[in-house]
Amino acid sequence: MMGVVAADETEVAIVGAGPAGLVLSHLLAARDIDCVVLEQRDRAYVEHRVRAGVLEHPTVELLRSLGLADRLDREGLAHRGIQLAFDGVRHRIDFLELTGRSITVYGQQEVVKDLIAARLAAGGPIVFEAVDVTPIGVDTDHPLVRYRRDDQRHELRCRIVAGCDGSYSVCAGMVPGRAVAERRYPFAWLGILARAAPTQDELVYASHERGFALYSMRSPEVTRLYLQVAPGEDLAAWSDDRIWTELAARLPLADGFRLNTGPIIERGVTGMHSSVATPMRYGKLLIAGDAAHIVPATGAKGMNLAIADATVMAAAIEDALRGGRPERLADYTSTCLSRVWRTQLFSHRMTTMLHRFGDDPFQRQLQRAELDLVTSSAAAATDLAEQYAGLPFATFAERVG
Ligand SMILES: Cc1cc2nc3c(=O)[nH]c(=O)nc-3n(C[C@H](O)[C@H](O)[C@H](O)COP(=O)(O)OP(=O)(O)OC[C@H]3O[C@@H](n4cnc5c(N)ncnc54)[C@H](O)[C@@H]3O)c2cc1C
Repeated sequence: MMGVVAADETEVAIVGAGPAGLVLSHLLAARDIDCVVLEQRDRAYVEHRVRAGVLEHPTVELLRSLGLADRLDREGLAHRGIQLAFDGVRHRIDFLELTGRSITVYGQQEVVKDLIAARLAAGGPIVFEAVDVTPIGVDTDHPLVRYRRDDQRHELRCRIVAGCDGSYSVCAGMVPGRAVAERRYPFAWLGILARAAPTQDELVYASHERGFALYSMRSPEVTRLYLQVAPGEDLAAWSDDRIWTELAARLPLADGFRLNTGPIIERGVTGMHSSVATPMRYGKLLIAGDAAHIVPATGAKGMNLAIADATVMAAAIEDALRGGRPERLADYTSTCLSRVWRTQLFSHRMTTMLHRFGDDPFQRQLQRAELDLVTSSAAAATDLAEQYAGLPFATFAERVG
């Protein structure tokens, strides 16, 4: 028997406790704007979901400015650049030297843990295990969100709904006339987490005849490694031995690179695709992060872009609710899109530069020319470094202000 409706009220109902929704909740709290986060999973599930792990410089600065970076500053691994390997030889791109900025390796699940702990400690409500979340009346001035929890129906009245509910977003599906521009790549990534100490303090992106491989890490004890595989690859066909042998074949061992092996504690296959769905707003419903766009993981941008959207959204909401300018919500999509498309471009370039696309010799030579260029021209390397380390959020958020 379903319980009665329990009604509640807030200014902003945030759907989804991923990086976009949680950062938004902190940005709104910093502006004294009331919000409630509704998350369909339980707390332990979202805190242990292994996904991204590279934080751009502006993401780290933002978390610091919100007082959310204590553990990140203690435990995050500061990397001053990356390495590109081809023909078995490694080439460094030194972000710090080229741009004065660097990146930090810190697991997405650790970011999520920190954001949840700080939000709850400040008394900010996060409703876990909120199911059947349904925004209603988002084209009016009085939207509400219905959901179910513990067999009780709830209604959360609000002024704005923030759809931060990831790639299978319910919220995004409510935007009428939504157009999706997308590209599917003819490969996927087999990713593993291994209890093996990293041998490097930089990520190694390896372009190889057998396919792409990425060497990265999550902590001083845990390595994160990826192999280019066919889309829909059957994980059961990949024994631990086969994974390590393939990694050893593709990574530049002949160039002094060492690969530590160890127990594989997590594995999965993720398809590679890009998409952008517009508009990112309908009435009082604003969409952020993976709910609006997906980038291939090669550029390490998904989480950072979700957080960048949250900065734009917080500024737009403040303008609408506190600045008496509700019409500013209309700028939200175009303001986000300038960063979204630059990020798509960067992620697409990294993906096409590094992966094996069948046997096309012309494509292979173009890749080789691009790798040569980026490792020999300071201008090309600086361009890559700037994009990888992250363009400032302010450039984009200011346009809303
Ligand atoms: C499987 C996977 C692996 C990835 N690996 C990498 C990687 O290795 N490197 C990299 O750079 N990037 C990676 N990414 C990309 C990166 O993790 C995402 O871009 C990032 O999580 C986006 O943050 P978000 O807040 O927009 O969405 P999410 O992190 O997906 O958060 C959305 C939240 O909404 C909740 N939710 C969903 N639907 C509802 C609903 N109806 N009601 C209530 N709550 C709901 C979800 O449970 C989730 O907590 C990966 C993504 C995925 C999906």
